[in-house]
Amino acid sequence: MKKGRGMSKENNQMISVEEAQERLLSHVTVLGKEEVTILDSLGQVLAEDLRSAIDVPPLDNSAMDGYALQARDTSGASGVLPRLLRVIDTVAAGSITDREVVPGTAIRIMTGAPIPKGADSVVRFEDTDETARQRGGPISEIGICVAAKQGQNIRLAGEDISKGTVVLPAGTIIRPAEVGVLASLGMNTASVIARPVVAIVATGNELVEVGQPLPKGKIYNSNSYSVAALVRRHGGIPRALGIALDNKDSLVTAIRGGLDADMLITSGGVSVGDYDIVKEVLAQEGEIGFWTVRMKPGKPLAFGQIKGVDKSGASRNIPHLGLPGNPVSSMVTFEMFARPAILKMMGKRNLAKPTIEAILEDRIVNTDGRRVFTRAIIEKRGNRYVARLTGPQGSGVLTSMSLANGLVIVPEDVAEAGPGATVRVMMLDWDEGVI
Ligand code: AMP
Ligand code: MG
Repeated sequence: MKKGRGMSKENNQMISVEEAQERLLSHVTVLGKEEVTILDSLGQVLAEDLRSAIDVPPLDNSAMDGYALQARDTSGASGVLPRLLRVIDTVAAGSITDREVVPGTAIRIMTGAPIPKGADSVVRFEDTDETARQRGGPISEIGICVAAKQGQNIRLAGEDISKGTVVLPAGTIIRPAEVGVLASLGMNTASVIARPVVAIVATGNELVEVGQPLPKGKIYNSNSYSVAALVRRHGGIPRALGIALDNKDSLVTAIRGGLDADMLITSGGVSVGDYDIVKEVLAQEGEIGFWTVRMKPGKPLAFGQIKGVDKSGASRNIPHLGLPGNPVSSMVTFEMFARPAILKMMGKRNLAKPTIEAILEDRIVNTDGRRVFTRAIIEKRGNRYVARLTGPQGSGVLTSMSLANGLVIVPEDVAEAGPGATVRVMMLDWDEGVI
């Protein structure tokens, strides 16, 4: 085992998390645009400025249930001295009246109904003597008990969105509110940056597909599923290409199934074991990037580009990320590298995972000068967050990832963080909503 405080020869050859991210992101480009239904666009980024072809609301309309009238007819009106107006019509939301309000008249109006011609204000029911009059049957006359101000209770046409203006600029992330805005403009589709298709290949002779019996000496392939779930959670489209055996031919065949994808993720086979052939295949199929990142878990990591094809069949380079095989390492390295790559491809600009400060309840020892990401349970206690570890931190203990809602980060130059220390925590579930 390599020990030492960040000064060892091995650590000098490592690159920092940030450097690895930068290198990877410099090879990742924003995808082209696509037209999708407004609901499906949730979480995607608007590709073009969106101008409104209509006013919203389209017509001046009433903000209240009440009476549309001319304000000057009501000057000096009060509860004891109501002004009497003749009721000439009733108009509900969705209908328009062809009657015109002239001095001495009013039209009964419901919220959202267009303001009739001639009216300049709406007095709500509560400020009339309607309830005292209503004994069933239509009302032919109404007493107005307040002096109305011109324009009161009228929502103006174009008040929300005025025709021709940019409602949502290019680069806007579509959230539920934006889906609603698109619908209010009458649009059923939106032009957004495409979601990346991410091909996923698990490597290992020991792997068996889920749903199959488990022969002695084998384990189930969990990485393809946790990685596919992460891809989907962050807005990408996972395409799981199954298991490749630890031999060149099998891996090359599996990878070939993903050459039209926007990114390839492999898991396993990137450390220096006898069967680590990912590097070799990658070198043959494209270029090799970095291998060792100063982080724990997740030190062995591959990055490269493989020669792929685009939709028209023209050749292009596809970024390839080779995650470590250990189930926890593959998830943590996904968060640090694959996630920002997916977000960038989708046109997002904030690529950082949200972090908070918390008070540590346990002890974390950093033995070899790497940045340590420790699985933890974060709780709010009073006005602060506390972090306690999930238990054993072996990178094969996937259930600890399931228990965790955050990763406590211990920097490279901190040898130990004990109970009571203030630590930074990467929140695993906090990016939902602004995806
Ligand atoms: P490797 O990086 O290929 O040396 O794998 C490291 C560890 O992760 C080994 O114990 C593997 O059995 C395990 N492992 C590799 N790939 C997977 C996978 N797809 N699902 C579950 N465990 C895996
Ligand atoms: Mg392996």
